Amino acid sequence: MSPPFAEPSSLVEPVPAEAAGLGNSVARLRLERLARSAKPFVARGSRMERCEQCRLALSHCLCAWRPQVAARSAVCLLMHDIEALKPSNTGWLIADVVADNSAFGWSRVEVDERLLALLDDPQWQPYVVFPGEYAAPERVVQTVAPASGKRPLFILLDATWTEARKMFRKSPYLDRFPVLSLTPEQQSRYRLRRSTRGEHLCTAEVAALCLELAGDAQAGEALDAYLDVFSERYLGFKRSLPLDEQSAAHQRLRPFVGRAAAAGRADSAGGA
Ligand SMILES: [Zn+2]
Repeated sequence: MSPPFAEPSSLVEPVPAEAAGLGNSVARLRLERLARSAKPFVARGSRMERCEQCRLALSHCLCAWRPQVAARSAVCLLMHDIEALKPSNTGWLIADVVADNSAFGWSRVEVDERLLALLDDPQWQPYVVFPGEYAAPERVVQTVAPASGKRPLFILLDATWTEARKMFRKSPYLDRFPVLSLTPEQQSRYRLRRSTRGEHLCTAEVAALCLELAGDAQAGEALDAYLDVFSERYLGFKRSLPLDEQSAAHQRLRPFVGRAAAAGRADSAGGA
C-alpha cells in the first residue's frame, strides 16, 4: 500500500540485480516480477539516477540510514501485481528493518509453495492483519498472544484497498489463521503519536503497530522513524527541497542506525 502521501501509481522503476544481494525479500520479489514482464516499464523520471539499493535518487540515498534492530516477530508480505515495483512502496522498508521478512506475489489461481511451507512452519503463529468486519467473528483477535514457544508472523496484504479485500476473500490457505484487526483506538493512538495525515495507515505503519502489539517496541519505533526519513527524502527530492539530516525524523532514527553506517554517513553528508 502506498505511503501516507499522494503517489501516482504509474511510477515504476527497474532495479538491477545487485539489489538481490540484500536480505530484503521485496527487492528479490521485484526482480522476479521484472523478469516476468513482457515489456520494460517506462517510469516517469526514469533518466534520474537512482540508488540501486534503496530506489531513491542518489542525492537522497537512504542506505546509510537503514536501522539495525532485533525483532522476535516476522513479517510476510503478500503483494499485489506491481506493488513491489513502485518506488514508493513501503513494504520494502519493513523488509529492511525486520530480519525475518518474506514477500510473495499474490495470485488468485496459484500459491507459491514457499509461502505454504512458511505458513506450516511450527515456529510461527501466523496472523492475517485485516479489518475484522470482513472475517468470521470467531477468527478476529485484537491482541497478539501466540501459543508458548511460537513467534508471531504478521501477514500483510500489500495492495490498494480494493485489491486487498479481493486477496483476503480469495486466499483460502489463510482461512485457518486468526485475523488481527487493529482497533480504531489503537490506530488513532498511533496516528496521534506520529501525526500522520493519511486516512488509512500505509503498510509500513500497519507493520510498526503490529510490532508494537507483539512487544517488539524497538523495532516498531525504528520502522516508524525509517518511514519518516524515507518519506522526507522521497518527497524532498521530488520537490527539490534541501536535505536536512538534522531534521526531527533523522534524529529519531539515528539511535537505531549502526555505527559503521553512521561513520559512512558523516563522510557523505550533503549528498552522493
Ligand atoms: Zn541508497
